[in-house]
Amino acid sequence: FWDYLTSKLKSNLTPVSYTTWVESANPLYISGNDLHISVPSNLHKEYWERHYAEDIAIYSFEFNGIELNPIIETADDDTKKEEPERVPQNNTEIQNTTGHVFHNSHLNPKYTFDSFITGSGNQMAHAAALAVAEEPGVIYNPLFIYGGVGLGKTHLMQAIGHQMIKLEPAAKVKYITSETFTNDFINSIQTRTQDEFRQEYRNVDLLLIDDIQFFAEKEGTQEEFFHTFNELYANSKQIVMTSDRLPNEIPKLQERLVSRFRWGLPVDITAPDLETRIAILRNKAKAENLEIPDDTLSYIAEQVDTNVRELEGALLRVQAYSTMNKEDITKSIAADALKSLKLNNEQNGLTINKIQSRVAKYYRVSVNDLKGKKRVKTIVVPRQIAMYLARELTDKSLPQIGMEFGGKDHTTVMHSCDKISELVAKDDEIKRAVNELKDELRN
Ligand code: ADP
Ligand code: MG
Repeated sequence: FWDYLTSKLKSNLTPVSYTTWVESANPLYISGNDLHISVPSNLHKEYWERHYAEDIAIYSFEFNGIELNPIIETADDDTKKEEPERVPQNNTEIQNTTGHVFHNSHLNPKYTFDSFITGSGNQMAHAAALAVAEEPGVIYNPLFIYGGVGLGKTHLMQAIGHQMIKLEPAAKVKYITSETFTNDFINSIQTRTQDEFRQEYRNVDLLLIDDIQFFAEKEGTQEEFFHTFNELYANSKQIVMTSDRLPNEIPKLQERLVSRFRWGLPVDITAPDLETRIAILRNKAKAENLEIPDDTLSYIAEQVDTNVRELEGALLRVQAYSTMNKEDITKSIAADALKSLKLNNEQNGLTINKIQSRVAKYYRVSVNDLKGKKRVKTIVVPRQIAMYLARELTDKSLPQIGMEFGGKDHTTVMHSCDKISELVAKDDEIKRAVNELKDELRN
């Protein structure tokens, strides 16, 4: 029956939807008239219950005259992680035919669901994004995708736009960064074209606003966005936002915006695991028509574990190196290409320790004070500067920096970095100190 059901469902779904919702599910057993089905997450469970409960009853009746009642179960957290084989292969056949629409919506044609590889770090975000594209304005509104740089937030967000246009070619989709929104808004005030501005933003079916952490501290823009948001929301238009952090962690974001952003669904994206990185590289290599042996792909994926953007950079580097040396891409070519990258990193290999001792010396405090908890201003500011410099000059993550400062929480580190960025902008003395320290540490 399962084969029968899935083939029926398949005929009604786009390939991405099929892979995401149906292929990830597994039949468990039948007891009485109950068909137990296992799915990877609660999001998938909700989706099955909303969409397929009836289909299952209908198709099972069609199949052998028994109406089965689905019981959807989510896999345990432990088992959830071990399913990398579900990575969808790139579906080259779905080249979009509606290219002209994309120009208006400012979408990058490369950022589609078909070219997005799923893995444990982005599975939830991917499923939520697809659900939103299929049923905009209905379930997860607003959808809030957050996570570190280069992990695929923009890609996923734009994939929603492409998918929605594919399903509903007349849909008005607008993609914009929060900076563009801010600039457009300021321009509209200067040129007295606020009505046009509002028309443009409030008259869409899907608004994609990227990197909204840059709304931080922009009072007027936040005010305007608040009204845009309300208008769209009231008309059940879908809003999707991305940010590098949760709404309540964005400095000086108005409480009423924070609370509205909570109405929908926040989903995070975390760094890809090794299998996912290999799958991403394989996909990319295929798209670029590169012949790369499996062991070489694995090797590159092992070397770069920070984010997808750097992973793509490494692949480019290997490609360039092999072209330059007129040799095929092999593991040893890849090792050579990436060695120079590593050496560079190690040579200016600045450690957090070095930053701490330099800052301690500059401010005549002890390194232990920087790592400690004392709240006096003469120590707090140097401590925050040291954290800020660690963030700027090394590629350590917020939690890693926190660890090196006596086990502080990543939010403390983030707060320190924000604080110093703020001070650098308005306090000349701090600015001079930070620049001096930066220059020294870089050499
Ligand atoms: P962010 O907006 O989170 O900084 P981007 O969406 O710009 O990240 O992604 C950076 C690069 O990595 C883009 O070229 C994007 O296509 C690619 N990328 C990120 N995640 C994936 C993924 N899961 N599958 C395929 N490519 C990805
Ligand atoms: Mg982005």
